[in-house]
This record gives sequence, C-alpha cells and structure tokens, in this order.
Amino acid sequence: MSSQNHHNPLHIFFFPFLAHGHLIPTIDMAKLFTSRGLKSTIITTPLNAPIISKSLSNSPKTPLIQILTIPFPHTDFPSLQGCENIDSISSPTSINTFFEASTLLQHPLEQVFQQSHPLPHCIVADMFFPWATDSAAKFGVPRIVFHGNCFFTLCATVCVRLHKPYETVSSDSEPFVIPDLPGNITMTSSQVPNFVKNSDNVVSGLLSACKESEIRSYGVVVNSFYELEMEYADYYRNVLGRKAWHIGPVSLCNTKTEEKANRGKEISMDEHECLKWLDTKKPNSVVYVCFGSTTNFADFQLKEIAMGLEASGKEFIWVVKKSEKDEIFTEESWLPEGFEERMGSEGKGMIIRGWAPQLLILEHEAIGVFVSHCGWNSTLEAISGGVAMVTWPVSAEQFYNEKLVTQVLKIGLPIGVKKWSGVGESVKWEAIEKSVKKTMEGEEAEEMRSRAKVLSQKAREAMQNGGSSYADLSSLIQGLASPIR
Ligand code: UDP
Repeated sequence: MSSQNHHNPLHIFFFPFLAHGHLIPTIDMAKLFTSRGLKSTIITTPLNAPIISKSLSNSPKTPLIQILTIPFPHTDFPSLQGCENIDSISSPTSINTFFEASTLLQHPLEQVFQQSHPLPHCIVADMFFPWATDSAAKFGVPRIVFHGNCFFTLCATVCVRLHKPYETVSSDSEPFVIPDLPGNITMTSSQVPNFVKNSDNVVSGLLSACKESEIRSYGVVVNSFYELEMEYADYYRNVLGRKAWHIGPVSLCNTKTEEKANRGKEISMDEHECLKWLDTKKPNSVVYVCFGSTTNFADFQLKEIAMGLEASGKEFIWVVKKSEKDEIFTEESWLPEGFEERMGSEGKGMIIRGWAPQLLILEHEAIGVFVSHCGWNSTLEAISGGVAMVTWPVSAEQFYNEKLVTQVLKIGLPIGVKKWSGVGESVKWEAIEKSVKKTMEGEEAEEMRSRAKVLSQKAREAMQNGGSSYADLSSLIQGLASPIR
C-alpha cells in the first residue's frame, strides 16, 4: 500500500519551526510525501505562509499540499511585532523571547486538530515543539519528530549530554573522545554548545523537553540516507533505541530549476545569471561561501573573508547576509578598497548580498569547494552536490556536523574554529586562504572530492525507487496506513 487509496489518501500535518533552516526541509518533506500520493498540510503563521507558497509555486504536486495558518502570539509578546521567523529577529537577545513565544502556538495548534474532520493520520512536528506530542495525543494522532539533523549529530548529542566529557578535561582546549560514540570522535569542551554545558537557560530547558518528548513520540524522521552514516543510523536505532526513518536527502525532491531557486527567501540574484556565470568556469574551480540563513558576521570578519578569497587566487561566489536596514550595508566598509571592482572586472568573484539559489549553485560542476557553517541542510546539500567542504562552524550543533564531515566522511577540512560562541569566532584571512587552497589543490583535495562525488551518487540512488531512503519512506507510510500503530 503506498498511500491508502487514491480517493482517500493518507493525510499528514507538517508543523515546522519558524526558521528557514527548518521551513525549507519541511517543505521538501511535504513535497516528497505528496509525490508518493499522500496529502500534506503545512501549518504555519501568517508571515511565513507566503514563503511556503512561493517555495511551492513551481512544484508539480502543489494541489495536494495545503497551507494552514495559525496566529503568532504577538499580543503576549508585543516586542516581537512583525517578527514571526528567527530570520527577522532584531537582536540576538530576542532569541529566547522568540522560543518562549513559540510555545504559545500550542493552543492554536490544538484548535486546528479540533476543527479537522477527519483528523490527519499523523503530524510531523519540529523538535522545538516538544508539547506537540501531547497535543496530538489528545486527538489520538501520532506525532513524529523532525530534528533537522543527521544521525551522527543526534547520537553525539545524546552521548555528550549523558557522559558530560567536557567536565573531565583540565582545560577548554584539551581534546576528549566522545564516550560510547563509535569512531573515536574527538572534540573540545569549548566546541560543545553553551546550552549543553549550562542547564539554566531557555534553550537548554527546551532541549531537555525535546529529548523527553522524542522518546514518547511515534518516531523520528531524519533527513539523511543510510549509506552516508550507517554506523550512526544503527547506533541511533539499536543502541539508543529510537524508532527512526531516514528519508533524505529531501532536497533531491526538487527537480526543476525554478523549484530549486525558489527555496526559502526571495533570491537576490537571478538564478539564470548566476548559472550563466558559473557556466563560464572550469569544473571544480569555484569556491562557494555561504553561512546559512542566520549567521551574520561582523564587518571585520567579512573583510578577512574578502582578503582570504583574494589571496587564494580562486574564483568564488560569496553570499553576504547583510540586512538592507543595516547602514553599513550601503557604505560597504566591510570590503577592502577596490575589492569588488578588481574581482568583478576580472570575472574572479561574485558577491550575492542577501539570499542565493544555493541548491543550484552546489549542483553546478564548476563548484570545487563549499566554505560553510555546517548547518545540516547546507552540509547535506554539499554532499548531494558532490562538493568538498571547508568547515567553519559557528553555533547550534554545527561543531558535531563538522566532525562528521572531517573525521568520519573525510570530505572536508576544518578552518580551525576552536570555540562555540553563537556569534562566530574570528578567523584570519591567512587561514581562509590556506584552507581554500588545501581543499582545491593537490592529492588530498582530489581524494576528498572523489569521496564527495561517490556520496553524491549514493544520495541519488538512496532516493530512487529501490533505494534505502525510498524504502524507509515506504515503510513509514505503510506503518501509518495500518490501523494498529
Ligand atoms: N539557503 C539558501 N540561500 C542562502 C542561504 C541559505 O538557499 O543564501 C538555504 C540552504 O540551501 C539551506 C538553508 O537555507 O537549505 C540553510 O539551512 P542550514 O541548516 O544549512 O543552516 P541554518 O540557516 O539553519 O543555520
């Protein structure tokens, strides 16, 4: 049975956290489920709805995906007026307020259940909504958790939380091996997220609730594929005892150019112009630099990146996430003098201010390396595109993803960031130049690139009929269709 029957398909609610890094893969998941004949409803707030409808506008399966809006609690949180996405938070201190506000989505979500006749067969709700398990249970609907992370990071997080290895070392910089985690993975205390080491903040409280709700949920969907991280997929299921389905890379459900260009925010550069520029470049010759949807570096850091790229002598596309509201944006004091004229006139480099069509860029054969903050979506998109990485983690679980890329998959080199900071540690231009060259030139670079290309091929196979992700999604669908869950 693929999706119950044609006239009465299985119906899935998706409830993503309000940040692009969570919305984008959720939209992809909804498309993926729909491509298998299921009906999907994405529940979100009014200001996020247009982002989702734009992302769906070129999708062939759009009629089977609905968007349903619930109000954001602005009355209780007037300081968040006009802000319904982490992306539009004006200061880092408002992040905790945003998380607090998002817990008030529980009541509106339950009203949605109340008004749904018939009820959906399941809800895939983001990890940041731990209460969704109980809300769904009130209506007899199974809840599936979506973390947005890979198996490796899910396992590493559990092992670090459980054993607290950062308490056994004599300094923040002394490496430890993550206890119990296969592969002898090393990291340092200074790379462990603050919200893991300090249990007295909003995020750490929320994450404990997430872990607890994960255990009581129907299971977990993981945006990854078995061949990428078998040992950790097995560990997560067999040792940590979680019920999980790997169904990715979900970004591969996008097949048309427009679909790929329409993910997330409005792109700041026409995709065709960008691709035309890349078409003029040799295979594996261009560096792509992008730090996801939320990382915003200070001006001095941007200047170091510019200098590092210029010194490397490589051609590049560099995405600079500067707000248009930012005065400095117009002054461009973050660029070395004459930088853009030099780079532009020689066709050496392109700066995209704002939002880039990342999926299209990473799939282009001209891209040789991706300098990335190691958000899981970006990492998996690089893997799917067969691109090696320079890893530059900043916050969240990005340091774990870095370890997967550099120590397990061996498809990237660390730029050398030592400290989880939430704001970004300063990296000098010399380190940027060196890492870029090392991942693009010579034998080691060649080996990393070939490993990345092999993984890209395996990712595509996993998503095809007969592949491991295809099969795991089938088994999830079958389970949901069976009356006894
Ligand atoms: N992204 C994009 N264009 C940009 C920046 C980001 O399309 O200019 C997309 C990227 O392809 C990925 C997502 O935004 O799907 C970022 O998610 P990730 O987990 O990498 O990082 P986060 O934004 O959550 O830190």
